[in-house]
Amino acid sequence: MRIAVAGLSHETNTYAVASTGMTTEERFLALTGEAIRERFTGTGWAVGGILDECARREDDAVPAFFAWAEPSGTIDSAAYAALKEHLLQALRAAMPVDAVALELHGAGVVEGIDDLEADLGGAIRRLVGPDVPIAATLDLHGNATPAMADAYDLLLGCHLYPHTDLYDRGVEAVELLHRVVEEGLRPVVHVEQLPILLPPSTTDGDSPATRANQVCAQLEARPGVIDCTLMHGFPFTDVPDTGSSIIAIADGDRGLASAVGTEAARWVWAHREDFRIENDTPESAVRRAANATSFPVVVNEPSDNPGGGSPGDGTHLLRAMLAAGLSRACFGFISDPEVVQAAIGSGVGTRVKVNLGAKHDDLHGLPIPVEGLVRCITDGRFVLRAMLSGLELDLGPSCRLTVDDVDIVVTSKPFQTIDPEVFLLHGIDVSRYKVIGLKSSQHFRAGFRDLASLIVTADSPGLTTNRVDVFEHVRARRPLWPISPEARYVG
Ligand SMILES: [Zn+2]
Repeated sequence: MRIAVAGLSHETNTYAVASTGMTTEERFLALTGEAIRERFTGTGWAVGGILDECARREDDAVPAFFAWAEPSGTIDSAAYAALKEHLLQALRAAMPVDAVALELHGAGVVEGIDDLEADLGGAIRRLVGPDVPIAATLDLHGNATPAMADAYDLLLGCHLYPHTDLYDRGVEAVELLHRVVEEGLRPVVHVEQLPILLPPSTTDGDSPATRANQVCAQLEARPGVIDCTLMHGFPFTDVPDTGSSIIAIADGDRGLASAVGTEAARWVWAHREDFRIENDTPESAVRRAANATSFPVVVNEPSDNPGGGSPGDGTHLLRAMLAAGLSRACFGFISDPEVVQAAIGSGVGTRVKVNLGAKHDDLHGLPIPVEGLVRCITDGRFVLRAMLSGLELDLGPSCRLTVDDVDIVVTSKPFQTIDPEVFLLHGIDVSRYKVIGLKSSQHFRAGFRDLASLIVTADSPGLTTNRVDVFEHVRARRPLWPISPEARYVG
């Protein structure tokens, strides 16, 4: 089979515009043609799974265009127009094809376009015509819509948070496209929307999201059902369709897809209170970590998670760690290019006085005046291992500053901490520390769950706080739980 492979993935935090501005074209990693195969073959991305499965089946996979940016503010209209045009042009050049396989996100918002994925899907459909099946993988944080269901033949959200199954969903996309083209499978997609703003909910352990996945898996096992997936939705986006949903896909049977979606949605609605999260403050989290009896303890700060569009230079948790006088503690990492430049200017082995962090706004804290020993300077380049494996990150010039007994990694660019690689780059073996502070909501579990004796979440004011009810959703189509207790689901 000849399969065009493409992607355009962005998780848009519409509230982030006030802090870090609109998302421009330069923020995207954009690749065309063979560069996509070179970059993503064998990686843990959905497009990696798509390419690998095509290779295993000896399909003629044609890499067309792929663009991805870290979560950030609304995409400006010129940037989206350019990216969309690149993608369509590359698809046009790849035609004729038997199928199209895409990696998308599901929470893309463009200035003037609330539903990036539906808009893009419509344009691709017009290009390839009604008979070429289009499959798209999604991040479970996508705010899925009926318009997306209309635009694609297959919408496959990942099931796990941390998203360690993106690759598997890419593989499934190719498998199902083969069944459509070769066996006459006729997928119909139904999106059942729930009036729920789900807080960031891990699927580690016996969590409510894990139990929801089990319910979906049971429904998916019914005859005629192709897929059933809980989409958590992305609460940090203010568009009419923000919220959780179920994507149900059945073989040629719209009624079955709708019934399965409704049944899974009823379960989530009935169990919504289980998803509520109560977190420590940074101060109480640090106290719990310091008083623990086995180590290391990981303290994560979800409220300034660049993986959700926050600036990554917030200081609430780091300030609490420094104020507590912790011993054998490390923090990785905070983004502050000015401080890195000061450290480079001062040199390894010297002490620098800097105002660390919080250069974007006051919401994520105030700069911390510190005097630190410059222990090392790096190029900020390393490869992720635990999730999005194979992605080479380039966080720009970076350094390790030691303040009292706290080793702090400072980078030039933000990213969330997913695994210990950024610490290793700076000579820090986290297993020898008592307290590890980091910025991430849930993805860090992929790289730290096996080495942490305890995980404590420190929530504070921030653009990605677990307290999803603090964000006004003025554009929401209907009342949303938990902001509005009067919200109702009638399925
Ligand atoms: Zn996600």
